[in-house]
Amino acid sequence: MVRAAVLTAVGAPLDITEIDLPEPGPGQVRVRLAAAGVCHSDLSLSNGTLSQPVPAVLGHEGAGTVVAVGEGVEGHSPGDRVVLNWAPSCGECHFCAELCEPWLCMKANAGTTVPYARTKEGEDLYPGLSSAVFAEETVVPARAALPLPEGVPLTDAALLGCAVLTGYGAVHHSARVRTGEAVAVFGVGGVGLATLQSARLAGAGPLIAVDVSPEKEELARTAGATDYLIASGTTAKDIRKLTGGIGADVAIECVGRGETIRTAWNSTRRGGRTTVVGVGGKQEQVQFSALELFHFARTLTGCVYGNCDPAQDLPLLAGLVREGRLDLGALVTERIGLDGIPAAFDAMLAGRGGRALVVFD
Ligand SMILES: [Zn+2]
Ligand SMILES: [Zn+2]
Repeated sequence: MVRAAVLTAVGAPLDITEIDLPEPGPGQVRVRLAAAGVCHSDLSLSNGTLSQPVPAVLGHEGAGTVVAVGEGVEGHSPGDRVVLNWAPSCGECHFCAELCEPWLCMKANAGTTVPYARTKEGEDLYPGLSSAVFAEETVVPARAALPLPEGVPLTDAALLGCAVLTGYGAVHHSARVRTGEAVAVFGVGGVGLATLQSARLAGAGPLIAVDVSPEKEELARTAGATDYLIASGTTAKDIRKLTGGIGADVAIECVGRGETIRTAWNSTRRGGRTTVVGVGGKQEQVQFSALELFHFARTLTGCVYGNCDPAQDLPLLAGLVREGRLDLGALVTERIGLDGIPAAFDAMLAGRGGRALVVFD
């Protein structure tokens, strides 16, 4: 039995209880978590914005130590420090093998709908985004456990698993920010802060952060923002003013709302690029006139997991952390236990704070 935060029904509060976790089967590893970040997608899974079979253990941003390996697992042994990849690619489908775009793998989230453990009452339990890291231990496919290079504290490394891969990838792989480009980042949560740090690394300037909360200004500036705007009806205009009347070269939307996507697009220059990182619901709509699409010649791009190949990008990110160029600790505004997750969800809904990090003993 291990302790976990269980989503018993969509919209229900999380139940902090014990679950019955099996030993790893063929091709699986069992990981004892050191830390797990609370991501906005967990909130979306818990309230039905994104679909998730229940009961489930959510949490998909985690790092820990391998404690057992299943039959046929090569390259992992007990004691290995790992970061979890919430979208482990199969290596064989059209997107993996032919296109070399593993973030679009057709089977990346196949694990979400397959029970991985049992509740203490013996009911099937599902793993949120195949990872289920809101628990002391989890069982995942071996290919989802990425070796963590030396020199990165295991607790902070959890953030690499979602926020940092996503933010870094949005800047480097999707928007391909170049030195000196004006970049606007919408939404200063965990992913937004990682995006700001990554844009600073890419040499962006000015680097404009936009959020609804005045309280996040210091966090944003620490992550590299040169300007901070409270979201309003004039945000796009304000961004043009800060960019010599031209508009941002790049906007990165980390909120997932129709209105914010529209503002992000409006805030870019003619020919500017907007990358949407935020995960919105089906009901969120964005409208464009045919004329403006022609006239502004801007692009709007979706971005899954930062368009990263986590196995390739993780060592690079670990290097940046070791060199002190990427500050994982600066993303974290709260360190909590499993029982702190409901309050962390409330804080996210209210737009407060950066990343809340569940730290296990
Ligand atoms: Zn996430
Ligand atoms: Zn695949």
